[in-house]
Amino acid sequence: MTDKPTFSIEFFPPATPEGVEKLRLARAQLAQLNPAFFSVTYGAGGSTRDRTLEIVREIQAEGLHAAPHLSCIGATKDSIRDHLAEFREMGVTRIVALRGDLPSGMADPGEFRYANELVAFIRAETGDAFHIEVAGYPEFHPQARSATADLDAFATKVRAGANSAITQYFYNADAYFQFVDEAWARGVEIPIVPGIMPIASFSKLARFSDACGAEIPQWMRRRFEALGDDTASVKALGLDIVTELCERLLEGGAPGLHFYTLNQAGLTTTIWQRLGLA
Ligand code: FAD
Repeated sequence: MTDKPTFSIEFFPPATPEGVEKLRLARAQLAQLNPAFFSVTYGAGGSTRDRTLEIVREIQAEGLHAAPHLSCIGATKDSIRDHLAEFREMGVTRIVALRGDLPSGMADPGEFRYANELVAFIRAETGDAFHIEVAGYPEFHPQARSATADLDAFATKVRAGANSAITQYFYNADAYFQFVDEAWARGVEIPIVPGIMPIASFSKLARFSDACGAEIPQWMRRRFEALGDDTASVKALGLDIVTELCERLLEGGAPGLHFYTLNQAGLTTTIWQRLGLA
């Protein structure tokens, strides 16, 4: 286990050339913060395959560290093998290994059922070539049968060969600390890095959170609702809330922070600077 906190940044692969250009600008700004790596999401079912690889290739070519996400739902062993070979050829050494969600209209779940099977497969195929990150859910995965079943599944996934985990975003620090305690009680003492979602628009955040199972505490909801469409005040409140959350997490022993940037540099840079990480 590493003692040095890991600060990292996440992008999604843009769908248009303009988006790719904007991401280059955001990345140049965020690279100045010197994050440990830039992760790049992957559309489950392979929908962003080429775009994810293109962004990963650009990041690696800039001398930075890319960590591609790789989801296994709908995939075959051969297709995952091809991905792993491409990553190695690009000099990638870190992967975020996920199950993903079967896209609507795609019926064939492929050769993997859960992320633990993907982790085991990557280890069996490539030994220690990759540092494997997995996903954790302090407020539990929306499809989990129960909190206990989800924690047990997380432990199984880590034992399959994960080195560390990144969590779904949350705004309740206690849920994170409890999740870490429960994971450690199951003997999986890996770094579990909180995923941090800066807040640009409260209405968008609320919609997105409902879909992914992240809870917005009532006090936050009420404070944002009181601000209505005053975007400057929403942004200022969001910065205060997220910076305080990060401070609490780091003071409580979180082994780093992973920022969901949504390809925007501004809010992450401000929070990073307020935390004195720059
Ligand atoms: P799993 O760990 O496989 O868990 C899925 C569900 O199955 C859980 O309810 C779990 O309790 C249960 N389960 C797990 N293992 C077992 C088992 N062996 N037996 C029975 N039940 C089990 N999605 C994307 O499409 N692309 C991305 O790039 C992406 N990046 C993400 C990054 C992070 C850090 C996080 C937190 C999520 C990301 N997601 C991404 C979303 C993720 O794909 C979804 O949340 C998906 O539904 C679950 O993926 P998982 O890897 O956590 O699945």
